[in-house]
Amino acid sequence: MAAPKMFDLNGNVAVVTGGNGGIGRGIALGLAEAGAAVAILARNEEKNRSVLAELEHLGVPAISLKLDVTQRAQLRPAMEEVERKLGPISILVNNAGISVLRSALKFRAEDWDRVVETNLNSCFFLSQIAVQSMMQHKRGKIINIASEYSIFGAQSGIAYAAAKGGLVQTTKTMAIEFAPHNIQINALIPGWIDTELTLPAQSGKIFEEIITRTPAGRFGKSEEMAGAAVFLASHASDFVTGSTIYVDGGYAIR
Ligand code: NDP
Repeated sequence: MAAPKMFDLNGNVAVVTGGNGGIGRGIALGLAEAGAAVAILARNEEKNRSVLAELEHLGVPAISLKLDVTQRAQLRPAMEEVERKLGPISILVNNAGISVLRSALKFRAEDWDRVVETNLNSCFFLSQIAVQSMMQHKRGKIINIASEYSIFGAQSGIAYAAAKGGLVQTTKTMAIEFAPHNIQINALIPGWIDTELTLPAQSGKIFEEIITRTPAGRFGKSEEMAGAAVFLASHASDFVTGSTIYVDGGYAIR
């Protein structure tokens, strides 16, 4: 069955950072199913190849690039390579992210820098590059993958919570500046999703706490992030900007 026209992403080029696994893979495949050409940007080349094969299987133009988003000098060349190979970027999903769990008292400077560079700084600098191209084409969509910790804070992930909080404010501030250029910038807030990142929380007491607090009574699957991402990438969301959309089985309302 064809997707309703307002969700049709044919003719779009999407970049998904960290698209080679977890939530990024789920979103990359969802955008491709809706018709977008997709570039996945991440460090592990074997995982890149594996998801690239899945994207190609869906019949859309796709590429993977080896990129460490903390290497600022490599961001523009990577985005230019995507445009050379696939065309003008109309969708950017800032998804690459890492977590370091340690008390604030013992948090090391190098961990702070690594987490903030990955989870916040890279999202801003990639967005800054993307909007330049989007402004020329008078349309664009940026989707930042934030966190419940953006809103509530975290028990032992100070840099993660600080970066993800900053990402929501970056989303809102850029949304204001670029709305007149028909560029919509929004954030998705996943609840607890079953990925490598959350493996430490998938057993023991913390698992029980999460399940109890999540009204849906389970972790989400990566594929379940795709629907909201397709919405935010499509014409269906042309009057939605600066918003945060929870995809969390109700976690935030408890
Ligand atoms: P995973 O650990 O499963 O995947 C992380 C992805 O980010 C991988 O593809 C990894 O690829 C990529 N990545 C990490 N560091 C870099 C880097 N320096 N440069 C390029 N790519 C990088 O995590 P999730 O899928 O769970 O998380 C995805 C996003 O969703 C993150 O921003 C996370 O904070 C957020 N999130 C996740 C939640 C969850 O419950 N899972 C909840 C809330 C938010 P590679 O290692 O090959 O570079």
